[in-house]
Amino acid sequence: MIADRLQAVTQRIAKCCEKSGRSPDDVCLVCVTKGVEAGVIREALAAGVQVLGENRVQDAAVKHCLIGDTASWHMVGHLQTNKVRDAVRIFSLIHSVDSLHLAEAIDKEAARVRKVQDILIQVNVSGEESKFGIPPDQVFPFIKEAGLLPHVAIRGLMTIAPESADPDAARPHFRRLYELQDEINERRLVMDELTILSMGMSDDFEVAIEEGSTMVRIGRAIFGEKEQPGSGGQ
Ligand SMILES: *Cc1c(COP(=O)(O)O)cnc(C)c1O
Repeated sequence: MIADRLQAVTQRIAKCCEKSGRSPDDVCLVCVTKGVEAGVIREALAAGVQVLGENRVQDAAVKHCLIGDTASWHMVGHLQTNKVRDAVRIFSLIHSVDSLHLAEAIDKEAARVRKVQDILIQVNVSGEESKFGIPPDQVFPFIKEAGLLPHVAIRGLMTIAPESADPDAARPHFRRLYELQDEINERRLVMDELTILSMGMSDDFEVAIEEGSTMVRIGRAIFGEKEQPGSGGQ
């Protein structure tokens, strides 16, 4: 069941890549397992999933304990500074860095355990007040500061498009993120070129791939719809 859904998603990704003249190897699938129990996650792993995305550190810690590092763990949800210690221990990539204060806390904790923590900058491209993320015009100053932190490596940008019944409505937001990344690289604001564009979820990942996404975060299309009080809302 999970295997079938997963295969359908990976086929859609491959087809979309082909249509856009891109290689399917250029798009990483992050399987978002918030609210999904360990047994089902194991099913996904057996079906070939390699990257798991969680949006709460506490939940991730429990599952990580059960499942371990057979997959890579990514943090996709808002991260509070008081959860940074566990986050740095568990996650190979934190998609959701949205303040300098948080980046500094990650740097400090990563230094303590002698790790360089890969991060993405979450950008609030749409400007919705309900969303976390740095406003686009604050990204350059953010990079200037966060780029100096020795135990944090900025790898790219992440955004969440506004909810809409029409996937195409997300296109301008994805395009804007792509252009922002392009400009950062062109101006050489970072030592190592940013290569990860984390954009696209169950309802809009094909549009995101067309607009240059290199990492799609997909939950419902693989695990089905379910009510999860308090787990959405970003
Ligand atoms: C839940 C979540 C996803 C996955 O969303 P689906 O619509 O279930 O594919 C992706 N990114 C973030 C930040 C999320 O919280």
